[in-house]
Amino acid sequence: MIIQPKIRGFICATAHPVGCRKAVEEQINYVKAKGKFNGPQRVLIIGASTGYGLASRIALTFGAGAKTIGIAYEREADDKRTASPGWYNTEAFTEFAHRDGYYAKNLMGDAFSQEMKEQAAALIRQDWQQVDLIIYSLASPRRVHPITGQVHSSTLKPIDKAFTGKTVDVFRGEVKEITLEPATEEEIANTVAVMGGEDWAMWLDFLAKENLLAEGIKTVAYSYVGPTLTHAIYKEGTIGKAKEHLKMTSDQLDQQLKAYKGEAIVAVNKAVVTQASAAIPVVPLYFAILFKIMKEKGLHEGCIEQMVRLFKENLYATHPPARDKEGYVRVDDWEMRDEIQQRVVELWPQITTDNLLQLTDIQGYRDDFYRLFGFNFAGIDYEADVNP
Ligand code: NAD
Repeated sequence: MIIQPKIRGFICATAHPVGCRKAVEEQINYVKAKGKFNGPQRVLIIGASTGYGLASRIALTFGAGAKTIGIAYEREADDKRTASPGWYNTEAFTEFAHRDGYYAKNLMGDAFSQEMKEQAAALIRQDWQQVDLIIYSLASPRRVHPITGQVHSSTLKPIDKAFTGKTVDVFRGEVKEITLEPATEEEIANTVAVMGGEDWAMWLDFLAKENLLAEGIKTVAYSYVGPTLTHAIYKEGTIGKAKEHLKMTSDQLDQQLKAYKGEAIVAVNKAVVTQASAAIPVVPLYFAILFKIMKEKGLHEGCIEQMVRLFKENLYATHPPARDKEGYVRVDDWEMRDEIQQRVVELWPQITTDNLLQLTDIQGYRDDFYRLFGFNFAGIDYEADVNP
C-alpha cells in the first residue's frame, strides 16, 4: 500500500508505519544524547502511545532505565485502513526498548474501564509486585463511566458568555473570526467527567486497594495554562474546568499518598502540536505565533525536550521540584516568559491570511502535525509500497 496523508479537518485518517518509527527513534536519540539520570524503576503510563505520554515513556526508559507498562487506546490496521499512529509508535517503541534490553509491555484498550484497571493490576503484581510512578496522560473526547455506564462527551467551549476571536484554518492558511457559544451546565459537567481527575483517582484508589503502590510512589498528570489570549477557550473554558478538577484531585491524592511517603503532582506543560491540541479552536493560531518566537530565541521545545526536563530536572532531581504558589510544577516556564508573551500580544492583532506565512510559524505547525502521523520525515520514500 502507498500511504499518503488524508487530512480531514484537524485529524489525519492515515498513518505511516515507517515514519512513526522514525519519530520514535528521533526521540530516543535525543534522550540518549542527553545522558542518564536517576529515576523511577517501575512506571505505569496511562496514555502512553502519543504526545506527552509517549515522550514520558521514552525519557524514562532511555534516560533512567525504567521498566514501563504502557496503556493506550489505538487501532490496528485492517484491509482498508492503516493503524493509528499511536499503534505504530507503540510497536516501534517496544521494539527499540527490547533491543536495548529494557522491559516494556503494553495494554491496548479503554483506560477508563474497570477491566483495564484489573488487567494492569494483574500485570504489575505478576511482573513487578509494585509500581513507583504512575503517569496519567489521557486526552480523550469521550468516557464511558465504569459505574453508571453513562457516555460523557467533552466539549471545547467558553463558559458564561460567547467568545468571538481570531482563529486559523491551518491547512487552508485562512485567518478568520469565529464565534463560540457558551457551554451549557451539562456540557461543562461532561467535560469534567472526561478530562477531570475522577478516573485518575479511581486508578490510584484501585491500585492502592490491591497493595501495588510502592513506598515513595509518585503520580503525575499534565495540564496547560497558556496566555490570556486563549483563556476564554482554554483556562476559563470547559477544558479549564476539567483541569481545575484534575488539580483538586491531585491535592487530595497528595494527602492520601503521604501514607506511602509519596506525592501527587500536576505538571503544567508547554503548548505542543498533538492530536489532542489540534482539536482546540483558536489555540493553533497562538501555537503558530509562539513557535516562531520561541524558535527565534532558541527556546523552542517539543514533547521529548519537555519530558526530559520534567523528569530529570524536576521530579527526579536531587532537590524536591519547585512548585508555584498553587502547587503546580511548571515546565511551561519558557513559554510563559514575559519577553515571549509580550511579543505574542504584539503580533496577534497584526496576523491576517496574507501575512500568516511571514509573521507566524504556521509551516512549522503543519510540519509537526504531519509528523504526528509519520509523514514529512526526510529519508523516507513516501511513494514506496509499505505493509501497513
Ligand atoms: P495525545 O492525543 O497525543 O495523547 C493522548 C493519549 O491518550 C494517547 O496515548 C491515547 O491512546 C490515550 N487515550 C485516549 N483515550 C484513551 C482511553 N480511553 N484509554 C486508553 N488510552 C486512551 O494528547 P497529549 O496532548 O499528549 O495530551 C496528554 C495530556 O497532556 C493531556 O492531559 C493534555 O491536556 C496535556 N497537555 C497537552 C498539551 C499540548 O499542548 N498538547 C500541553 C499541556 C498539557
